[in-house]
Amino acid sequence: MTEMTEMTEHTVHTRPRIVIVGGGFVGYTVARTLGKKLRPNEADVVLIDATGVMTYQPFLAEVAGGLVEPRHLAIPLRQVLPRARVVTGRVTTVDRQAKTVRVRLPDGTGYTESYDQLVVAPGAVPRTRQIPGLAEIAVGFGTLADASYLRDRVLTRIGLAADTDHLPTFRRALTFVVIGGGYSGVEAVAELQNLATAAIKRYPNLKPRDMRWELIEAGEEIMPELPPKLGEYTRRRLTKSGITVRLMTQVTSLEDGVVTLSDGKQFAADTVVWTAGVRANPLLATLGLPVDARGRLQCNPLLQVQGAPGIWSAGDGAAVPDLAAAGKVRDNRATMPLCGPTAQHAVRQAKRLARNILATMRSRSTNEYRHPDAGSVASLGLHRGVARIYGIPMRGIIAWLLHRCYHLMMVPTWGRKVRVAAGWGAALFGRRDLAPLPAGSWTLNLSGMPVGIEQVAESWHDSPQSLSVSRQRSATSGAAVA
Ligand SMILES: Cc1cc2nc3c(=O)[nH]c(=O)nc-3n(C[C@H](O)[C@H](O)[C@H](O)COP(=O)(O)OP(=O)(O)OC[C@H]3O[C@@H](n4cnc5c(N)ncnc54)[C@H](O)[C@@H]3O)c2cc1C
Repeated sequence: MTEMTEMTEHTVHTRPRIVIVGGGFVGYTVARTLGKKLRPNEADVVLIDATGVMTYQPFLAEVAGGLVEPRHLAIPLRQVLPRARVVTGRVTTVDRQAKTVRVRLPDGTGYTESYDQLVVAPGAVPRTRQIPGLAEIAVGFGTLADASYLRDRVLTRIGLAADTDHLPTFRRALTFVVIGGGYSGVEAVAELQNLATAAIKRYPNLKPRDMRWELIEAGEEIMPELPPKLGEYTRRRLTKSGITVRLMTQVTSLEDGVVTLSDGKQFAADTVVWTAGVRANPLLATLGLPVDARGRLQCNPLLQVQGAPGIWSAGDGAAVPDLAAAGKVRDNRATMPLCGPTAQHAVRQAKRLARNILATMRSRSTNEYRHPDAGSVASLGLHRGVARIYGIPMRGIIAWLLHRCYHLMMVPTWGRKVRVAAGWGAALFGRRDLAPLPAGSWTLNLSGMPVGIEQVAESWHDSPQSLSVSRQRSATSGAAVA
């Protein structure tokens, strides 16, 4: 089919058309709510997503830890949204005059989709910095590919360490670094280290203390959203498991896979994970719509993009006033707090947004978004967690169970919930599945280019330091911390 024919097909329509850009927490929830509430033939819903699946990100750390199968968190939008036409493609531009969006399909061809109401929700991307080597060496932590890659990376590096007789390769393979001490960084380091500790027991010539785990945070504390006591508990818990937590420390270079810290320390690492924050999808700044300093679409409490009638937004890519948190300062717009980038806000905003679109189409009154923060839960590895629910701090196995139960409840569709729970059951009654995918079969990094680590590791082999495996064990035990 030619591009022109497709354009004609999609632009001629009789019913109002609601186009949703992005099929994540916001896009999926808007389409689902509209699907339930729209009258027959009241409107057409078109959802355009770059991947065609919604990813349940809060369980990514469990995917990295090998406790949840990646496919069980990939919700196929076409199957679960029968009332929407789902397009797998990337929106590249919005023409507000013509009321159209331009869609690029995976094969590079494109077409134009017209809208009456437009929801723009392409989420966020990792917030990277100008650090030499970062894009080539580090892996992000926002997709199923990232989490699956890291699980296999950790397992294959342990295998490499067990087989090599070259000391620098051994040390480097067993050095794992997570940059960023927010929720995702803490969960990632805890689950990956848990996995590695289970895996290393299967190698008689390796010991858990041969591994070096580093969590590097530029701020004064990890997980600053938690009350200080819980933050401190988390730090102690991680340290007790063998993770070095460095606060007020920045990574200044990752060139050639050598991690250089702001305090001058240097060490080589084969596995570096970047979780130091997110920023709004760069697409948003190119649309000619008002964005704030962080590139998020400026929205009013009704979730309409400021000064753009018929265009709505929510989630990580939207700057939405947090009326519930604002309390008495509401009249003072300069101090108005904004909703944080959480799934909790994204889902609730999306439901309100869908209802406001329907109200607009039916000439009824719309309502402002107002949702008091219910708190947060985080896993610190198997059977350990922290939580703050409506201000009440919790820790240990209770918090961990809450984390699992809450997120299991939130995973879309019963089919997916059952699959995730069945996986946990299998791990409970059987042994943890530690099978890596064939080593080196795939690579990943922040730049989207092949990881340079394999080549870097090879160049290290040229170094004159080569020791026997037995000598390495005693040498590296003492070398765990620089
Ligand atoms: C590791 C991790 C753990 C997290 N844990 C928690 C947690 O425990 N609790 C919590 O509340 N929040 C958590 N979050 C945050 C939460 O996942 C986000 O706040 C939420 O996903 C935001 O929803 P969204 O719809 O704005 O964006 P997303 O869910 O990211 O969806 C954006 C969608 O847009 C699509 N897209 C992007 N560009 C385009 C384009 N040009 N055209 C079409 N489609 C496009 C993408 O494919 C994606 O499907 C976590 C996030 C991460 C990364």
